[in-house]
Amino acid sequence: MTTLPDETINPQPWLAVPRAHPIQLIVIHATRGDTTQDRQYMATKNWLLSPNNNQGGWGGATNRIISHEGQMCVSWPDDMSPTYSAGFGFEGSHWSVDWYAISFELAQRNFTEDFAEATLARAAKEVALLCSKYSIPPVWLDRVNQAGAVPTGITGHENTDNGRRLGKTDPGSDLAAGGKFDAPAFIQRVLAEMAGTPASAVAQPATPAPTAAAATPGARQHKVAGGDNLFRIAVLYYQDGARWPQIYAANRAKIGDDPTKIHVGMILEIPA
Ligand SMILES: [Zn+2]
Repeated sequence: MTTLPDETINPQPWLAVPRAHPIQLIVIHATRGDTTQDRQYMATKNWLLSPNNNQGGWGGATNRIISHEGQMCVSWPDDMSPTYSAGFGFEGSHWSVDWYAISFELAQRNFTEDFAEATLARAAKEVALLCSKYSIPPVWLDRVNQAGAVPTGITGHENTDNGRRLGKTDPGSDLAAGGKFDAPAFIQRVLAEMAGTPASAVAQPATPAPTAAAATPGARQHKVAGGDNLFRIAVLYYQDGARWPQIYAANRAKIGDDPTKIHVGMILEIPA
């Protein structure tokens, strides 16, 4: 199988607006409905190019589309927000997912069809790059409350207020219901990609994005809490997730060979 080269398209201009908020979320969707994953990729791309995709100034949109071969279509640079990939959560919601998120559409024929290995591999690689670039912790958010504080991390459309309200099932992280998007496994792929990224290739974040958790700059020890991972801890103490290997190196004997295996209550040394 030959992977086609990546594409950059110029979609209909009303489908995106200049981004006015910081990038702190990555939202995974599945695009479905055609007879093959290949046709679904093409259909989604063509929809962004189509003048018919217009609801009076906005339309269905996304930042990236990934094919079953791992081919990627970039619709807009990161400083543009799609007008609609996952919007408001209706009553009570304060903010639109698209204001803060880079969105991905993964080609899938239907809810119960396995994603292609090349789709997942490419998505993880791109998500890892964005996590490093924008200091987004590679953690999966099971629930995104659009009436509350804007969280940072990776989520699925179905986990946002918008997706719940609309009955979305993409990308399908409810495996018990037959979904095919294994979110914990995807996060492991992202972590592996980040671990393999040479430091020189990791863009430095323009602005630090400390999380709401209690960070004590200069503290020498960190007690691992639920949802922690080394990347997130590096963001807390250094405002730079790319420095997680430094924390790993200092605690290698305790953690072992797998940097993803830290557990709640573990005390980690944080090098200065
Ligand atoms: Zn969606």
